[in-house]
Amino acid sequence: MAPTPRPLQDRLMNHIDYDAVTGCWNTGLSKDTAGYGLIRDENKQLQKTHRVSYRLFKGEIPEGILVCHHCDNRACINPDHLFLGSTQDNMDDMVEKKRSNWKASITKEEMQAMRASGMTYQAIADQAGVKYYAVYAACNPEFNREANRRQRAKCQQNNQPLRS
Ligand SMILES: [Zn+2]
Repeated sequence: MAPTPRPLQDRLMNHIDYDAVTGCWNTGLSKDTAGYGLIRDENKQLQKTHRVSYRLFKGEIPEGILVCHHCDNRACINPDHLFLGSTQDNMDDMVEKKRSNWKASITKEEMQAMRASGMTYQAIADQAGVKYYAVYAACNPEFNREANRRQRAKCQQNNQPLRS
């Protein structure tokens, strides 16, 4: 007699690495090129682990809806870090996070003024305690728009359920 296949939830949960700092449940299963974990579901279809986790712990994912990460960690399958959203919600969430970063330390205008006074991006980032990228994006709104557009296209592409 063939052994009974292990339930999906067991297979999913047996491969996680708990990060005590972030609370993330990082999957140790193999990943796709975008960094999302992959697992075969009850019907032997290859699925993304964060989507399977959402479905098992929180409920069905409506057709065409994305499962997004609050923690921005694609390997994470902690249901508390996952939320359903349209592509627009995902963008709003990112913008919200970025905005709270600005608030904590420095405004976009202040960064632009520092840049105009001749400081390097890195010097501004060090002084304000923000990421180099944040300073660069604040001082180059055109670049920022382009990056957002690319990010949006990527999210759309990566969050489609896999078909085999
Ligand atoms: Zn997480």
